[in-house]
Amino acid sequence: MIYRPYGRTGKDVSTIGFGAMRFGDVDNVDACTEMVVHAAERGITYFDTAPKYFGTRSEERIGEGLRELRRREMPYYLSSKTFESTESGIRREIEAQLKRLDVDAIDFYHMWCITDLAGWHERKKNGVIEAFLKLKEEGLIRHVCVSSHLIGDEIKELLDEDVFEGVLFGYSAYNYRTRVAAFDAIKRKNLGCVVMNPLGGGLIPQNPDMFNFIRTDENETIVQAALRFLIAHQEITVSLVGFGEKSHIDEAVEAVENFAPLGGPELEKIKAAGSTSFEGICTGCQYCLGSCPEEIRIPQLMDAYNQLILRGENELIGRLKYHWHVPFDEAAKCIECGRCEDACTQHLNIIERLAEIVEIGARAE
Ligand code: SF4
Ligand code: SF4
Repeated sequence: MIYRPYGRTGKDVSTIGFGAMRFGDVDNVDACTEMVVHAAERGITYFDTAPKYFGTRSEERIGEGLRELRRREMPYYLSSKTFESTESGIRREIEAQLKRLDVDAIDFYHMWCITDLAGWHERKKNGVIEAFLKLKEEGLIRHVCVSSHLIGDEIKELLDEDVFEGVLFGYSAYNYRTRVAAFDAIKRKNLGCVVMNPLGGGLIPQNPDMFNFIRTDENETIVQAALRFLIAHQEITVSLVGFGEKSHIDEAVEAVENFAPLGGPELEKIKAAGSTSFEGICTGCQYCLGSCPEEIRIPQLMDAYNQLILRGENELIGRLKYHWHVPFDEAAKCIECGRCEDACTQHLNIIERLAEIVEIGARAE
């Protein structure tokens, strides 16, 4: 395992992190604890959870796993998050989290999911920074962090806040062009940098041929190549992987252990080989869920649109008809209110895409 300094905190953490949002059987307490222990045995020390993964069960399972790590005197760092922005809301949330996680403090605590600057200014107005600093002063959290889906100059503005010690954002072999500005800010401010969604919401393993450009060793799997691509970025402290079973942990750890690290020039070569057409892909994060007054199934429709980008019209048609069973005329119900676009973490032009799907549907019928 490789360990890297988390910004200026003085802590070294494992470069592969345990993302606790994909437990195969979250209700099986023993199996989840075993996964946490297995990860620690393979050298993972960074464990990331959140209050809404599987309801509150992800935090509960991580709490039980960490209790076992303490019993075995194995090292770990804990990361979690909150959407709350008022002092009373944050206090209520963290008290419940500390109980579920069975710890006295959370190492890396994130202001969760900043999707636009207006929302960030609103949270600031509510006193989120002061509330986090108070928790730190009281020893309930150790480091103030932020999780963001902003891109370009917006993320620069967010990270210019002096309060942050680390940042978490989505980054992978298909969206790297939209995140370059973040790395400038991270280097300048010496922040810890954790990236999530390293497999592009499953798109990379589902389309290994298209992502072949990230492979530098014929023995590595596409998952390992995708992770090695991330680890080659010296600015990235931790790449979070959502583990569903123990074998996923082994596969990720082997990406670090069994292959020679990529050098800077090799990384640049891979980036240059990547097609710009991978930009604008829906990651399946589902943050748009519930935003549509017409109850249009946006994640399913945008997933099908991914197929259009990656494989062409017939794949879109097949995906909607046979995989999702969503009729084309569902896209035609759009009243262009824009709520889904405001919620979309990837800033996709959903309205235009829905119109295009309607046209394709008309042609197909
Ligand atoms: S823009 Fe269309 S798809 Fe998006 S929330 Fe509004 S009605 Fe729904
Ligand atoms: S449309 Fe946007 S918010 Fe919705 S699942 Fe896709 S990337 Fe996420």
